[in-house]
Amino acid sequence: QGTLMKGKRGLIMGVANKNSIAWAIARQLAAQGAEIAFTYQGDALLRRVKPLAESIGSDILCECDVTDDATMNSTFATLKEKFGKIDFLVHAIAFAGKDQLAGSFVDNTTREGFKSALDISAYSFVDAARRSAEIMNDGGSMVTLTYLGSERVIPNYNVMGVAKAALEASTRYIAADLGPRGIRVNAISAGPIKTLAAAGIGSGRHMFRFNKAAAAMQDNTDPMGVAGAALYLLSDLGLSCTGETHHVDGGFHAIGMPQEDALKA
Ligand code: NAD
Repeated sequence: QGTLMKGKRGLIMGVANKNSIAWAIARQLAAQGAEIAFTYQGDALLRRVKPLAESIGSDILCECDVTDDATMNSTFATLKEKFGKIDFLVHAIAFAGKDQLAGSFVDNTTREGFKSALDISAYSFVDAARRSAEIMNDGGSMVTLTYLGSERVIPNYNVMGVAKAALEASTRYIAADLGPRGIRVNAISAGPIKTLAAAGIGSGRHMFRFNKAAAAMQDNTDPMGVAGAALYLLSDLGLSCTGETHHVDGGFHAIGMPQEDALKA
């Protein structure tokens, strides 16, 4: 038990179950004294999220679909009522239709698929950041989750890669807008981790095998590494760091060409 987040209150959006990256972050922040409110997407997930929240002493659970302004309004109204001011926001939300996450990007990306992926996975951060800023103490911090598919072509990631590029650019613009208030805004680019969202992407087995073989550390990404980076960015340890996309992927992003024998295993 540490004290890096003592006295800090905030919102975590995107816990679906115990494997969610947002849950790893929640545990890490709670262990450092943070008080946390959670959103959940629909009743089906409440069954999973409630016991997790309770296990770290949180009873603030808000139903929230980021495409529905009414639930965004009620979430932030609850937050204001329960916490008054907040100090941090974690945004760990993404979605694209399964038909958009396979095969040829140019052939399979529909107008509706593009719009909804960008709406849920990128605009939702802009919206949540604006609403959070209204009740955030100066010196607060926001973190979103992204993936290398924004910078490079990853098979089947397709329109989600485009959405993550928009999310990373949005992170920089929000950082510029809120910087004068001392509010920092960063993205963590995590390597592949086995979660519900990752299961929606075709060729998952190949992705994990290739990542492990080609990463500098020759291993897959540990969610607690992502949680540690979030703790750094959301606590005062991260002072002066903003507008950044920070890779936590075992060094996969740094490798131009894997060692000759790396892919034989
Ligand atoms: P997850 O399935 O546990 O979390 C995704 C969350 O998005 C769920 O809680 C889901 O309810 C929520 N969500 C989707 N559509 C929503 C909507 N309309 N309204 C509200 N919530 C909605 O999976 P995860 O892997 O922990 O994903 C969290 C974030 O991390 C995502 O942004 C994802 O792209 C990113 N990420 C994941 C990986 C990975 O390999 N798992 C790697 C890099 C980045």
